[in-house]
Amino acid sequence: MTGFRPPQTIKGIINALPDKDGSWDAFRTVLKASKLQAVDPASPSSYNSGNVFGPSDLDIPHFIQEPIFKPRLSAREVTEILLADMLGHPKRFSVFPSRGKENDELAAAKIILDVFKPLHAGTGQGLWNVVSPRLSDKYVYPRRVKDMPKRKDLLRETDVSVNIMPFGSVADLHHDIGYGTATLAQGAKLWIFYPPTKENLDAASRAYTAPRGNRSRLSKSFKEMSNGIVFIQPQNTTVWVPPFCPHATLTLQTSILVGKELYAKRKFPQRLANGNLHLAWGRVNADKKAQESEAAELLAHLKSVLMTDEKVLHADTVRAWESGHGALKQMAGDGKHGLEGFAKVWDQCTKLWNECPLCKIHVGEGRGQESGRELRSTSFMTHFQKAHCGK
Ligand SMILES: [Zn+2]
Repeated sequence: MTGFRPPQTIKGIINALPDKDGSWDAFRTVLKASKLQAVDPASPSSYNSGNVFGPSDLDIPHFIQEPIFKPRLSAREVTEILLADMLGHPKRFSVFPSRGKENDELAAAKIILDVFKPLHAGTGQGLWNVVSPRLSDKYVYPRRVKDMPKRKDLLRETDVSVNIMPFGSVADLHHDIGYGTATLAQGAKLWIFYPPTKENLDAASRAYTAPRGNRSRLSKSFKEMSNGIVFIQPQNTTVWVPPFCPHATLTLQTSILVGKELYAKRKFPQRLANGNLHLAWGRVNADKKAQESEAAELLAHLKSVLMTDEKVLHADTVRAWESGHGALKQMAGDGKHGLEGFAKVWDQCTKLWNECPLCKIHVGEGRGQESGRELRSTSFMTHFQKAHCGK
């Protein structure tokens, strides 16, 4: 919708919610009762007092101003490309809530045909995670992250994937583990974000594991969370989504959301430290395979991070290990990505370390120089196991 100027006050946002058979009342309550701050996402520094989201602009949810496709694509072009990719790779999408394969395929067709009806709720199902290699080819990095791949700061990036959400659909409280760009090719969305403080992440964790009722996770847990922000995303804008910020979205007009995730080295310690949150999320989905693949990726990324010569990153990783390795044990079980695999990587990658990057104490000359006799000072691994691996 052209000319749609999103409101930037709580009252204005509540008034912008559709008046639809009471189903938005729960969100009106959240907006009224919580101390959410309505923000202007174009100026992130204005709502990060005390660095609650983190020290860098990349830690704050905000609007990215540049277009992310070259050439620019209209909503219709995005839909055409998406449909072409779905026909080419029919298994790479999902419908949520699922009602069986047969039904889901028909639902997906309906959702696509109704995508240009802004106030059409359809069956309440959404089309999720359509992987689109063609859109990936046209994606250009926003200026702010353009330097990341050059500086070899990235561990992995995903293909572009697309969610089509009919009017009224909700993405309930969740968190992402990589940086994300979320571009609205069509529609309007309301976003509620919380900073990744321990208090908020603990509340999210409890929300993930609480018994499923008919209330949303957001409704159940917003009172335990603080420093949240809220804004409306209009068409043709991109939201920068930092990792580990619990968030929820409401679809105010049928929307096409184009997303991509980037995993950066500087955020690896946060992922390692928050294994418990991942386990809590995994219990929601009861997905053992997802846990194992998380452990496998953590193992690969640990190696990449330890192989750098960035001392601060190493110190953060040692600290993250202290709080995160307990969850890893559960996540990985006894498989080849179990704790033994991790111990091996620590051992291999720290042979030449002669100082603990966290404690800053001398730990010997490194075993590379050992010549048959016992070293007088301990190796990093001996220190690491004693000081940082807990019980
Ligand atoms: Zn140490």
